[in-house]
Amino acid sequence: MLSVLRHPLGDHIVTHLRDQTTKPATFRILAYQLTLMLAIDATRDLPTETKVVETPLEKTEGSVLTHQPIVVVAILRAGVSMVQPFLDVFPDVSVGYVGLERDHATAVARSYYCKLPSLEGRRVFVVDPMLATGGSASKALGVVKQNGAVAPRLVCIIAAPEGVAEVARHHSEVSVHVAVLDRALNDRKYILPGLGDFGDRLYGT
Ligand code: URA
Repeated sequence: MLSVLRHPLGDHIVTHLRDQTTKPATFRILAYQLTLMLAIDATRDLPTETKVVETPLEKTEGSVLTHQPIVVVAILRAGVSMVQPFLDVFPDVSVGYVGLERDHATAVARSYYCKLPSLEGRRVFVVDPMLATGGSASKALGVVKQNGAVAPRLVCIIAAPEGVAEVARHHSEVSVHVAVLDRALNDRKYILPGLGDFGDRLYGT
């Protein structure tokens, strides 16, 4: 259920994201590029159908995506940075938001906002860049499942083994797509080596 993006360009981008001297403007571009790669990887089994077209030279048979709208559900706030790449490449995407805040002292996720489009019969991708304890991701996956999503996918940039295990414990049918699997969490529940607080790096806070 864990799929790790193994691509030299992905590794290159992750290294620059980790680098504490990378400024927010560059960080945002890198996060966009890496999410684009993850979006393509996480959708490699989308259904297709045959379509015959005429090139300027001859008739040929190709395949196009079967009409099945995609829903991207971003976990606020850092997940917002992962929405645009999906919007830019897929023809039919709607977006939902789940507001989950990590208490910095206890690391427990608290829900404060939920706005979802219809999820029934759709491919649902929950996006959150850092899969740390897995508390927020598990909660968000529970919310989308309660609202009709079947086998949603989780797309993250960096995951800790603890987070992957927590998601698997609560949602064994969910596949998790990450750019990199890191070593562990520290005692403040930050990922090691990680990149620090993704939201802070993104927005310069
Ligand atoms: N969230 C982050 O932004 N970074 C971590 O290391 C863990 C959770």
